[in-house]
Amino acid sequence: MSSALTDVQKKQIQQVEELLFSGPEKEGFVKDLFFGKFRSESIIPFPELPEANRLRGQQMVDQTKTFCREQIDPVDIDVNARIPDSVVKGLGDLGVLGMTIQPQYGGQGFSQTNYCRVMEIIGGHCASTAVFVNAHHSIGLRGLELFGTEEQKREWMKPLAGGDKLAAFALTEPLAGSDAANVRTRAEPTEDGKGFRITGEKRWITNGGIADVITLMARTPDEAEPDGKITAFLVTPDMPGFKVIEARMEKCGIRGTATGRMEFHDMYVPRENILGPMGKGLRVALTVLDYGRTTFGACCTGAAKFCLERMVYRANHRRQFTKTLGEFQLVQDKIAQAAADIYAMESATYHTAALIDSGADDYMVETAMLKVFASDQLWRITNDCLQIWGGKGFFTDQPFERMMRDARLNQIGEGANDVLRCFIAAVGIRHVGRDMEAITRNPLTVYKMLRTRPKIPIKHEHMRFHARNLGKQIAKFSWAVEVALIKHREAVIDQQYIQARLGDVATELYMSSCVYSRLTALLVNGTIPEPDKQRDLTTGMLYLRSAHMRNQRRLEELKTNLDDESVEVAAAWLADSFDENWVLKGDDSDV
Ligand SMILES: Cc1cc2nc3c(=O)[nH]c(=O)nc-3n(C[C@H](O)[C@H](O)[C@H](O)COP(=O)(O)OP(=O)(O)OC[C@H]3O[C@@H](n4cnc5c(N)ncnc54)[C@H](O)[C@@H]3O)c2cc1C
Repeated sequence: MSSALTDVQKKQIQQVEELLFSGPEKEGFVKDLFFGKFRSESIIPFPELPEANRLRGQQMVDQTKTFCREQIDPVDIDVNARIPDSVVKGLGDLGVLGMTIQPQYGGQGFSQTNYCRVMEIIGGHCASTAVFVNAHHSIGLRGLELFGTEEQKREWMKPLAGGDKLAAFALTEPLAGSDAANVRTRAEPTEDGKGFRITGEKRWITNGGIADVITLMARTPDEAEPDGKITAFLVTPDMPGFKVIEARMEKCGIRGTATGRMEFHDMYVPRENILGPMGKGLRVALTVLDYGRTTFGACCTGAAKFCLERMVYRANHRRQFTKTLGEFQLVQDKIAQAAADIYAMESATYHTAALIDSGADDYMVETAMLKVFASDQLWRITNDCLQIWGGKGFFTDQPFERMMRDARLNQIGEGANDVLRCFIAAVGIRHVGRDMEAITRNPLTVYKMLRTRPKIPIKHEHMRFHARNLGKQIAKFSWAVEVALIKHREAVIDQQYIQARLGDVATELYMSSCVYSRLTALLVNGTIPEPDKQRDLTTGMLYLRSAHMRNQRRLEELKTNLDDESVEVAAAWLADSFDENWVLKGDDSDV
């Protein structure tokens, strides 16, 4: 491809390539969607746990439900901004804090799918507790599980998996937020070569000020890279030079979690504490975040289901204008959309978890899609739920204002949604871009791409219409990707309006594929009794049709839009400096 890129852009691309695409290129269901392919064997049949595995998981789900109901008070946790020690201990005793860790390291050996089933329960009960567990298990000790040596696991894992010690994951710093590669914390090798001295700062780290073991990202010297490369370390708060600046920062939601700021001054860390290969810390971090994003999907699903039940309850009981609220179409619409989107969130959560369980090499795009979709839908659903509860929903004796505050974090943490949107599109587009030259050299290939649409297996007559819609849309989408590449070439990396639309279309195609697969399973061998089966079918089909309509609109907007006008208006506003004094309350060292 020709290049009209600046040196900075080339450098950015090189860094991203090195970070995300080192090693053999891996294919996957979602990446193939960008090519207009539907890799049916990756998505149909809908994954199901083996019976014994499912029953063991169900036991854990039931115990967690009981524990939540009897021991976790989400109101108390929110008001007092603290998760009681008894809750932490109880979760440890239950086995939740080491659920997926292998028994030889003190864990329970559950699959990611069963872990998600449990996280859905906790997420539906108390978001603070869910984020605490996520920080400890989904990401805090995950680096050790995935990248630790046998020796490291034997030394560190047991007390973490049992919940006797807590873990945290520390990537974010004042100058490294969304731009995670910009970590400034430095680890300088000691002269004797036996260790490193770490200096720097981490902020907004869940459990950071209370954890016993922290996976910390710091920059180490590298011969090929003047600014060094990022390496992951295992550190403990008793290391001289480790200082907690603030253990519990006051915040808007998930107030029970301890979000911390820490500083490190010449903190000595022995070489044995390096986690994974030297200079590959960002890869460790991104892999770990794949797991965190999957549990975000489960927790958002749990919280959204809670809201749906309460929406239905209020709609059935509250009367205005001599009717129940549920008799008004605009209330019905909110309930139906929530149910349809929850069906998709749930389907994608369990498909993505099963993908991880299957030992697949690559699921980073799927996990990013799940996180973006689930957190965006939960935000809308909590808002709609509060709306149906009207004034009553606004008061703190109901859970909805807390749930809204809690839900907001999901769109920011573990990758801001807009950043992930562009990431989703960039990975897929790059995949296609590699074959671009070959495609454009041969007009017949272009013609064939225009004419062909992927074959979606139809296992039940009721799915024929949806199979045709899905197939047609995948073909249209892949063509839109080609057009974007032909038009912008490598400079497509700067076209965020286009990336966001393509990212969103791809995301809803993945969600739709998961729903399609699950509905097919329900029709072919579903064991759900009527009338629930019929309700699931119509709910899932509503999702398929509404996602299709949203995607039609996005594809249309790729051609007809107000992007240029929007850029112009934003530029006019950005040119104004306003009065800067109002904003400078507190720390301004991160700009
Ligand atoms: C309660 C809480 C708990 C957290 N826990 C942890 C933790 O345990 N460990 C950890 O390491 N981190 C943690 N974080 C940090 C979190 O991961 C970051 O907040 C997140 O990655 C976003 O970084 P930022 O907040 O610095 O946003 P910024 O990078 O300042 O971005 C702000 C906004 O700008 C926009 N934006 C930024 N870049 C782009 C772009 N390229 N394209 C388009 N839009 C863009 C997005 O809308 C984004 O939301 C936590 C944060 C919070 C609030």
